Amino acid sequence: MSAPTNVQRMDKIVSLCKRRGFIFQSSEIYGGLNGLWDYGPLGVELKRNVKNYWWRVMVHERDDIVGLDGSILMNRVVWQASGHEDTFSDPMVDCLLTKKRFRADQIEPRSGTAYYFSGAVDVQRLLQKFDAATHGGASNVRSEIEARKNSIFSVMASWKTSPDLNLRKIESALRAELQSDKNVVSDFEYSVLVPPGKPRESAQKIALHFYAERGIENAELQGERSEAITNTTRYNPENGSLLTEPRPFNLMFKTYVGATEDESSITYLRPETAQAIFVQFKNVLEVSRKKLPFGIAQIGKAFRNEINPRNFTFRSREFEQMELEYFCRPEQGMELLEYWKEERLKFYENIGISRSRLHVLTVPNEERAFYSKGTYDIEYDFPFGAQELEGVAYRTDYDLSQHQKASGKSLEYFDEETKQKFIPHVVEPSAGVDRTVLAVICEAYAEDEAPDEKGKMETRIVLRFHPRIAPIKCAVFPLLKNKEPLVAKAKEIVDLLRPHMYVFYDESGAIGRRYRRQDEIGTPFGVTVDFETLGEKDAALRDTVTLRERDSMKQDRIAIKDLPSILISRIR
Ligand code: ATP
Repeated sequence: MSAPTNVQRMDKIVSLCKRRGFIFQSSEIYGGLNGLWDYGPLGVELKRNVKNYWWRVMVHERDDIVGLDGSILMNRVVWQASGHEDTFSDPMVDCLLTKKRFRADQIEPRSGTAYYFSGAVDVQRLLQKFDAATHGGASNVRSEIEARKNSIFSVMASWKTSPDLNLRKIESALRAELQSDKNVVSDFEYSVLVPPGKPRESAQKIALHFYAERGIENAELQGERSEAITNTTRYNPENGSLLTEPRPFNLMFKTYVGATEDESSITYLRPETAQAIFVQFKNVLEVSRKKLPFGIAQIGKAFRNEINPRNFTFRSREFEQMELEYFCRPEQGMELLEYWKEERLKFYENIGISRSRLHVLTVPNEERAFYSKGTYDIEYDFPFGAQELEGVAYRTDYDLSQHQKASGKSLEYFDEETKQKFIPHVVEPSAGVDRTVLAVICEAYAEDEAPDEKGKMETRIVLRFHPRIAPIKCAVFPLLKNKEPLVAKAKEIVDLLRPHMYVFYDESGAIGRRYRRQDEIGTPFGVTVDFETLGEKDAALRDTVTLRERDSMKQDRIAIKDLPSILISRIR
């Protein structure tokens, strides 16, 4: 079977997610809301398993990290002190034609021929204005307008400076006429980038559309010139139209707290969870009695009014983060940055992401936040390209210092041994829950071949989730639904396993179909109760079942009493 292209693969993943209840568009019955998603019955399990495993390895299995669950809304001063209010922005540009908004730094550089226009004129209407200004006279000047339709600006400019007084009078009378009607002349300079091989007419068509939108119908384009351009980001990649100059766009969602909507009640939905950790640093330090180095971990919602939400859940406007702030002495920062990068790579491998599809990018000096002494981006090869899953940053003492300054409260740490007081430095691994969930779905998606009911090979869609994060761990099937003893035994097994894992009972349809349904949602194990379980053929097989493994489709005969321990050891 030929491998699907990346776009096809992503389309299949998105459609599987909806079909099987992993991820739905938010507010779908009302047409949705861009950049917002709901996790369905299976998605919520998968997401929860990812978060629980993160919490387990970051908090429960360590002595040096404790948790926090901070509020989403905080005092506005938090966002002023952290710098978010002034600088948490992306550069945005708008398409001059469609008004569509883009993130300026995400526009792929393009090459081609740029066609420039100094404006546009509706010549018929201009002639009417001309007739009104000259009371129907000056026919030779009128003919000049008609003859030089595409250089009317230079024609009129020549009248303006002409030694002929009459021409100068016509020019100013016509200008007065034009003042009253904005639908005749536009001197807005516009340009269009045309990719190699496309004709000049395509640029003209877009330019005519642009000027028509500004009110100049039946326009003649003015002052056209062209130039070859390489690697420009000034044009809309979708239609070649010129974009506006980049402007900063703050990504924080503004809201008001309390009954009055004025300047004093403004705050923001948090754009990251980290700030709650910094502002609670002293409280947590006191109650946990931790010594440096130690960390505070948090999982929670974050909100960013992204300019272009895209790639399914990858760039959303509401998402969850799993963040650790690991506080240390200044001299430990760089070493801990390396340590946490490695730990975080192990985490992804432990939830089934292949190391070969993870990349560590060292963020170059000029792209790093000014206070950071080192930052790594951990990227994953999504079907739409290698993109960031997590940032691991050594943020120095910037955040705590800012909050100490703004609050006037000491956020210093007192070292009992050296008797020194100082503001701890911090290393931050900051991961996105939604991006991790998307990565594990992309990683798990596979198509292979499996026999159907009659033994004929058919395409099987399978999500090869690591059992640790699979939404449903085990499906239990009685071979036939109308044989009471089979059904009763299967339900007993469900009761036996339920305290330990999420189990799904299914009695409807042919057994092969039932396996296939579970393969498609990534259930790693299937238990089938058949007549041998009842001891009808061979007494030695009484109370045994077949245990089917999703990936190999291998089936083993197992005693029911051994099922919990076998499965628990495989899903931990
Ligand atoms: P990007 O460059 O992709 O916008 P970022 O560098 O701004 O991401 P951080 O501020 O470092 O992201 O946030 C930490 C993590 O939070 C990211 O690695 C990502 O997993 C997650 N995250 C950030 N923005 C979004 C978003 N809009 N949708 C989903 N997850 C996000």
